[in-house]
Amino acid sequence: MSNIHILDKSIYELIAAGEVIERPSSVIKEMMENSIDAKATSITVEIKNGGRTYMRITDNGCGISKEDIPLAFVRHATSKITTKDDLTGISTLGFRGEALASVCAVSKVEVLSKQKDSIFGTHYAIEGSNETECESIGCPDGTTFIIRDLFYNVPARLKFLKKDVSEGNAIAGIIQKIALSHPQISFRFIRDNKTELLTAGDGNLLGVIRAVFGREFYSSCIPVSYTYNGVEVTGYVTKPLMSKSNRACQNFFVNSRYVKSVTCMVALEEAYRNRIMTGKFPGCVLSVNVNPSTIDVNVHPAKIEIRFSDEKTVYDAVYFGVQNALLSLDKPTEIAFEDKKVKPYLSASDIYAKPIVSDSGEQLSLASETCSVSMPSPEIIKSLYMIPHDEEKPANTNVFSGNNNEEHERSDEKFTQTTNKSSEPVHNDRFKYLNNNSFANNSQIKHSEIVTEEHNKPNIKVIGEVFKTYIICEIDNDMYLIDKHAAHERHNFERLVAGITSFDSQTLLEPIKMHLSYEAYDALSDNYDFCKRLGFGVTLLDSPSILLHGVPVVIANEDPQDLLTRFSDSLALGKVGSGYELFDDLFHSIACKSSIKANSDNDKLELEELAKIVFDEEIRYCPHGRPVLIKIGKYDIEKMFKRIV
Ligand code: ADP
Ligand code: MG
Repeated sequence: MSNIHILDKSIYELIAAGEVIERPSSVIKEMMENSIDAKATSITVEIKNGGRTYMRITDNGCGISKEDIPLAFVRHATSKITTKDDLTGISTLGFRGEALASVCAVSKVEVLSKQKDSIFGTHYAIEGSNETECESIGCPDGTTFIIRDLFYNVPARLKFLKKDVSEGNAIAGIIQKIALSHPQISFRFIRDNKTELLTAGDGNLLGVIRAVFGREFYSSCIPVSYTYNGVEVTGYVTKPLMSKSNRACQNFFVNSRYVKSVTCMVALEEAYRNRIMTGKFPGCVLSVNVNPSTIDVNVHPAKIEIRFSDEKTVYDAVYFGVQNALLSLDKPTEIAFEDKKVKPYLSASDIYAKPIVSDSGEQLSLASETCSVSMPSPEIIKSLYMIPHDEEKPANTNVFSGNNNEEHERSDEKFTQTTNKSSEPVHNDRFKYLNNNSFANNSQIKHSEIVTEEHNKPNIKVIGEVFKTYIICEIDNDMYLIDKHAAHERHNFERLVAGITSFDSQTLLEPIKMHLSYEAYDALSDNYDFCKRLGFGVTLLDSPSILLHGVPVVIANEDPQDLLTRFSDSLALGKVGSGYELFDDLFHSIACKSSIKANSDNDKLELEELAKIVFDEEIRYCPHGRPVLIKIGKYDIEKMFKRIV
């Protein structure tokens, strides 16, 4: 007996609609994307009751002709692609021809649309995929969709909708993201008769950021503009001190499409490494523009996930773009007494450093000789490592990942003599800035193209210190407080990282056979030399097995299998500098131990030397992300004393 039958159209339409339309905000997203594809310069969204009963999307785009409107609601009907080759270079936001078909299957839809050179527009209505109206009428150029009673015929879905206010907030979130990715379009959002968002549509992204996130976020923005191997990254990131306790303020757009991209997220957060407190996350509005043929946007029905053909290049572009922005434009904290708020201020570089200018006259980065530091010998590292110091605990130990002394005890029984020192330098992009003091277009600019100019060094007058912790100094019309331990710790940390050329390998007494994931195995074999230079002794066996016979000596106290797994997994994720993160904790600890402590006695010469280093090296944060330098302007002091009113 036959059991299989073809489902009725009304049922499979509902099933298919469920994939695209999950809640009111999915409708708004699809409709707004259509308006953008229709080249609208102004889009208004109005909702009532969280979008459940009423959603209206009005645009001034190209409009739809009377004969096309019924077709637009048919599944897989689209004006955006024709052949299979078009799928490999999609430049519109929509292309699947599914949105309108899905929306009309689960709601009551009305359309008013007129093309510019038509005399009349069309009024069209469709309910649960059945046409109820199609007539010519007079209406403005562009298109208006009105969607009523979403899921009126799918009670199961309706039940799963959240409270109106939550659904409305989800819509607001989508509109914000779309507005951020299209500053050249003016957006208006009206919720229950109240305008909640209005953007100018003048192309000024900062204006949209201010409208969306408010003044505080806006004033902490640092611009990013970077191109690497054909991948362009532009937008803004937040200053490290403005970091958030979640990732809600991270916005990535690839070719103007809002996406969730682990690659971009990891690259962003890696760029903030050692600048931001543990458990905090940077915010960003970053657009990544790539050749459309290098991405696959067809991996998710709602097109929120995409696949890059070259994840590593995208990772590098975001990572270096953000690093570069943080290095060249990050500012120390200023206390403004007037409103007791922290506000942005010119960095020391603005005070004394002249810009580096390329042949084309473009400003590239700030010159500095501060990076000619050399690495302490492995012996020094080891001796520092072995010397028990009193670890200085940061004020809030819950926040910082302080190193625990027990971790530093070596379990030498597991190991034999140090062997296999590689003399080849480790080439890793992480260190580029330490050699050039800038990531600025590092891939494109040869050293000879850079015109460096002598610094006009600031005249630092060290006044003394307070609480045996904070150096007070004066430069021109400003007073600065420097946290002496934090500053020295950062300086030492950078020296440690900068000087690494290779790592000794500690041979294991007994090699360990390990089974990795296939991805991790491939990543290890692709990066075999790099892995050797870091001090890992690995023999590749039949995929995915390896024999581990050596680990980097500086972290030899850790579990070798765990180390190799972490290392190969992060390599597989395509992380820049992976491997070096393994050493970060150790370097933090060495840097901390070898630094001046708060409450220690230091003579004026030492304080002067440290203050000079802070300004020369533009040190702004300790390796845990705490601020190092705070500025108090003379103007603010005089205002406090009412000398200026
Ligand atoms: P897709 O966007 O994937 O092509 P949709 O179902 O979202 O599929 O839309 C079907 C078609 O309807 C689009 O290809 C487009 O031609 C037309 N369309 C939809 N919305 C608009 C709009 N606001 N302005 C002009 N044309 C539109
Ligand atoms: Mg569409």
